[in-house]
Amino acid sequence: MLTTFTRMWLTRSTQPFRFTNRNDCRIAYADCCRLGLYVHIPFCTQICKFCPYCKVRYDKALCDRYLDALMREIHLVGGMHSGRKTVTSLYFGGGTPVLAADRLGEVMTAIRAHFEITEGVGVELHPNNVTPDILRKLKAAGVTKLSIGVQSFRKKYQRILGRSQVDADALRAALAEVPFETVSMDFIFALPTQTFADLKADIDTAFRIGANHIAIYPFIDFSFTPNDIPVMGKQEKRALLDAITAYCRRKGYVRQSIWTFARESHAGYSSMTRENFLGFGCSATTLLPDQFKINTFSVDAYCKRIAQKRLPTALTLRFTKRQRMIYYLFWTAYGMEIDAQGFADFFGVPLSQMYGMELQLAVWLGWLEKTQHGYRLTPEGAFYYHHFENYYTLAYIDHMWGTLRKEAFPKQITL
Ligand code: SF4
Repeated sequence: MLTTFTRMWLTRSTQPFRFTNRNDCRIAYADCCRLGLYVHIPFCTQICKFCPYCKVRYDKALCDRYLDALMREIHLVGGMHSGRKTVTSLYFGGGTPVLAADRLGEVMTAIRAHFEITEGVGVELHPNNVTPDILRKLKAAGVTKLSIGVQSFRKKYQRILGRSQVDADALRAALAEVPFETVSMDFIFALPTQTFADLKADIDTAFRIGANHIAIYPFIDFSFTPNDIPVMGKQEKRALLDAITAYCRRKGYVRQSIWTFARESHAGYSSMTRENFLGFGCSATTLLPDQFKINTFSVDAYCKRIAQKRLPTALTLRFTKRQRMIYYLFWTAYGMEIDAQGFADFFGVPLSQMYGMELQLAVWLGWLEKTQHGYRLTPEGAFYYHHFENYYTLAYIDHMWGTLRKEAFPKQITL
């Protein structure tokens, strides 16, 4: 109800977000500025019950078949642009991408045949894969940023999450032997009985053993995940988020987004906050000025589509102008800043003309403060963003991912 009302208000329309199976056979990205790339590798040796992402149990033969299809998709899409297109960054997510570490060099060669990357390459890792041998392979393939899914160093929460013990000393030794420009570590907060002291200890350990960036994101109970972890109440969650934020500020860490903090200004890891991006692989999404599309979640259906030399798109949303603006502002605000000139350059119309009243209201409520270039979220605004994001995830993403897990190519989804 809240998300529907907000959508209607902000898009000035009753038109919902309608994703259909009417997909393009070509992707028009040639004129996109600041384009990013994302590659999804959906294999894990262990399936965590709380995890909502598209993943399957690792099997070498299936993984090799998938990687062959993935490189064909890269050539198929890359060939839609003549010459090498300049892109900002490339992120490998999953799943556990390093299960394909021996072939990441090949995937990078396919990418480099069509794209020139200017701002680095990031990879998500499971803590068990942080070994000098694997880190050296990643470095040789051109990786510059790591995101390690620690989730928690505390035994109690690892048990709740069904994860194995993380060896902090082994992580420190491997990261010291093979350094990277950004080492980010992911943690989950709002787990049952979790306290600020638990999270503070995790943050301190992360920075002590070699991280220069952390992401602390809330536990979200997706309807299709088979976990029985109780959800923390709103007030308790807010107190934790406020305490973490205040602690990081006291330590001098820079808040780069709603959920991330950096100890060094050059460190950064975000596969989400980009104006336009192309996604390759199962479940990968592509965002362009006029559309958002998502690939099938089925590894088998993905490989079959690629074998037919067809794009593996499951659903496409054609944006109205206001829908695209809301999408743009949502992810820009995730980065804590709204740049008025950036908005005007992207849409060709001033931000104040499209959303002047809403921005004034947000300033009046104490959620935003005016800056030289636009607006910045206040701690209050960051909490409400975080709160709304939770609704959005459960109302939209839960429904979409839940459907795509069951059907390789659904006819339509309306949100
Ligand atoms: S949390 Fe990570 S390791 Fe666990 S199933 Fe999800 S992607 Fe795989």
